[in-house]
Amino acid sequence: MNTGSRLSHLTCLSCGGEYDAHILNNYCQQCSQPLVARYNLNNQIKRPVWSTMSRSGMWEWKEFLPVFRSENIISLGEGMTEVRSLSGWAKGIGLGRPLLMKDESTNPTGSFKARGMSAAVSKAVELGVRHFCTPTAGNAGSALAAYAALAGTKASVFMPKQTPKMFSFDVSLMDADVYMVEGTIRDAGLLMAEKNKEWGAWDVSTLKEPYRLEGKKTMGYELAVQLNFKLPDVIFYPTGGGTGLIGIWKAFKEMQAMGWIDEIPTRMVAVQMEGCAPIVKAWQQGSDSSEVWNEPAETAANGLRVPKAFGDKLILTTLQESKGFAISVSESEMLTELKSFAIVEGHFVSPEGAACLAAIKKSKSDGDLDDSWDIAFIQTGKGYKYAENLWA
Ligand SMILES: *Cc1c(COP(=O)(O)O)cnc(C)c1O
Repeated sequence: MNTGSRLSHLTCLSCGGEYDAHILNNYCQQCSQPLVARYNLNNQIKRPVWSTMSRSGMWEWKEFLPVFRSENIISLGEGMTEVRSLSGWAKGIGLGRPLLMKDESTNPTGSFKARGMSAAVSKAVELGVRHFCTPTAGNAGSALAAYAALAGTKASVFMPKQTPKMFSFDVSLMDADVYMVEGTIRDAGLLMAEKNKEWGAWDVSTLKEPYRLEGKKTMGYELAVQLNFKLPDVIFYPTGGGTGLIGIWKAFKEMQAMGWIDEIPTRMVAVQMEGCAPIVKAWQQGSDSSEVWNEPAETAANGLRVPKAFGDKLILTTLQESKGFAISVSESEMLTELKSFAIVEGHFVSPEGAACLAAIKKSKSDGDLDDSWDIAFIQTGKGYKYAENLWA
């Protein structure tokens, strides 16, 4: 069956080059920048109402997702996660309003990586791919292994040795090949590129193909409809490769193009760890791209240990366009809020989610948050999978 996808083509935001969406394209061959999907949008498309949506999962957004045939959709029920309005912890740090938490930990495989991989694997399967590979800080590997398993395809996953065992465990459980690599996700990517010269597998590294972004953008659609189209004034996003940050903003712009929202009030905020903060550094220097962060410190927030994001320019443009900012927090600030949030709210958030909490607290005390603002953060994954490293 036809999905009704409105996908029209791919474009490079850097050079404006256009690419066919009916064949496999990874990134712009002219300028080595990410490609983004474009859809046929108009103001006749009806704005949905949360109470009447079936909430069966992210593929309810299939008109705005890239897959043309429904039999190619590889889904484990990802997406349509809850937004919670939490006042306890927020009150404790002196926020004027409850904090909005988009709880992505309820996704299959324990993180929002499920959204991206569901979209990327589905579209690649539609275009004939039978072998996938990715470097990962943990969650992307778990998600790829799961979707590749369901699709009946092969997956090869490369992860840093310091990744908690739970991640390589579920990758192996799903029968994907896992390679443990000395160093960071960047080193994992380098080794993968070497191996992949022989394999010719489809590389689903963050933003090196256009469709993980599409999966993650559904967080933006959901937030909007869940909040009855009154978007938050600021969204704190734990930024590694930046897919979700770019994706949420892309969703807001698409909804604006359809007339679902007028002005976008949301400031997008990139949160990183002090020990690996290439985007924060670039932002502070007013640069439009980042430099490779040499020797990133160990952090329990694995997903933020990304020395150089392939989509760094897009991340920085998003911060600028949305009038947001970039901020880093220390390991101890992050761990402190992970604990106090657990004590007050009963949620064991991922260290990356906790980094947002620490950033909110810091921004509040720096006077960067207005009392009247609706503040949201993306709680990107389950804390449990990190327990081993958190213990140490
Ligand atoms: C991957 C990951 C991030 C970073 O997400 P990007 O969209 O790549 O910036 C944050 N938190 C968790 C739990 C992750 O797995």
